[in-house]
Amino acid sequence: MTRLAQTLGLTEFQTEIVSTVRKFVDKEVIPTAQELDHSDTYPQAIVDQMKDMGLFGLMIPEEYGGLGESLLTYALCVEELARGWMSVSGVINTHFIVAYMIRQHGTDAQKQNYLPRMATGETRGAFSMSEPELGSDVAAIRTRAKKNADGTYTIDGQKMWLTNGGSSTLVAALVRTDEGADKPHRNLTAFLVEKPTGFGEVVPGLTIPGKLDKLGYKGIDTTELIFDGYRASADDVLGGVTGQGFFQMMDGVEVGRVNVSARACGVGIRAFELAVRYAQQRETFGKPIAEHQAVAFQLAEMATKVEAAHLMMVNAARLKDSGERNDVAAGMAKYLASEFCSEVTQQSFRIHGGYGYSKEYEIERLMRDAPFLLIGEGTSEIQKNIISKRLLSDYRV
Ligand SMILES: Cc1cc2nc3c(=O)[nH]c(=O)nc-3n(C[C@H](O)[C@H](O)[C@H](O)COP(=O)(O)OP(=O)(O)OC[C@H]3O[C@@H](n4cnc5c(N)ncnc54)[C@H](O)[C@@H]3O)c2cc1C
Repeated sequence: MTRLAQTLGLTEFQTEIVSTVRKFVDKEVIPTAQELDHSDTYPQAIVDQMKDMGLFGLMIPEEYGGLGESLLTYALCVEELARGWMSVSGVINTHFIVAYMIRQHGTDAQKQNYLPRMATGETRGAFSMSEPELGSDVAAIRTRAKKNADGTYTIDGQKMWLTNGGSSTLVAALVRTDEGADKPHRNLTAFLVEKPTGFGEVVPGLTIPGKLDKLGYKGIDTTELIFDGYRASADDVLGGVTGQGFFQMMDGVEVGRVNVSARACGVGIRAFELAVRYAQQRETFGKPIAEHQAVAFQLAEMATKVEAAHLMMVNAARLKDSGERNDVAAGMAKYLASEFCSEVTQQSFRIHGGYGYSKEYEIERLMRDAPFLLIGEGTSEIQKNIISKRLLSDYRV
């Protein structure tokens, strides 16, 4: 093994696109990420180039103008992007989940209407489940859509934490509808809400108040969304049938978890690269710190964690691509990769000594970005809930 996180058995196209994305990241993303992060600036030039490379349509079927690639190809590209800057992978993440949900659950009209525009990146997706009072407990959603006599819906309520909330033009929003089902999650419906980019009351009854100020994950916009008498048509219901939203969104979250694992792998790889370089340059007590066994062993631990996370992420992606259920594999990959990513960035930070605390060194950004991976697409506790429930069912005595 010469390099970490290599993937065996890739097609020629997969090898080519992953290598193209890597070169793009080295040339365009890494040199600018620190400055854009510090000024919290949207990476428009990078996003435009990602559009040209076809990355917004990676998994959208060819018949709708996309590249028709697998989840594995997507995840490997995301790993490369996150190695450069986690925020850049965040730009395509919610877009990819919404496109995936439309592909899997949309009506023919919804696929025809949205997927070709999403493949080019002209229409950009955001994904909205969370609310101010809830994140993990999705079934407790309060935002409500009431059916009107003319068949339209009026939506009222507040959503929280929309990644790409201001820069997206299509939001898949999970809200409560009155289905009369006894189980709360069966009363949820996903609406496809089209809107222009920007902030304020962007369409009647729909306000994006502004960017939330975050610890890390800078550059891209994370927002609230307020529905106040917003009118949706029956055609905006994903799949055309109400009460299916919870299952549709959970299907999206499952592929999203592979994507978050891939991001954690990318951030972890970069943290390792920074540490292994610095450890050979910095000298203490007459030799490079890499020659102190305590530091060399840290590098060995970090590399092992990066490798393990990559293998689990690849396994979860391949399982989904094979058509098998992958909830446990995706949960395990997300849990392990995000925890290892946190540990590896912390180890890299320690190897940098005092300079790790300086804004001149890239590792400080990774230290602010990595914690989000423990939270997004379900916290580690929620992953452990999913994994343990399935284990106790499959290993029932
Ligand atoms: C930067 C950022 C971007 C985001 N982007 C999006 C987005 O695009 N779309 C979207 O819908 N959401 C988004 N989120 C929201 C994210 O998905 C939630 O923050 C996450 O699911 C956790 O929910 P919560 O914050 O409400 O925490 P809570 O659910 O309140 O959990 C708080 C703590 O309690 C623990 N906990 C909760 N329930 C249990 C349990 N049953 N057992 C054990 N422990 C438990 C949790 O693990 C956590 O430690 C984003 C969040 C952030 C920070």
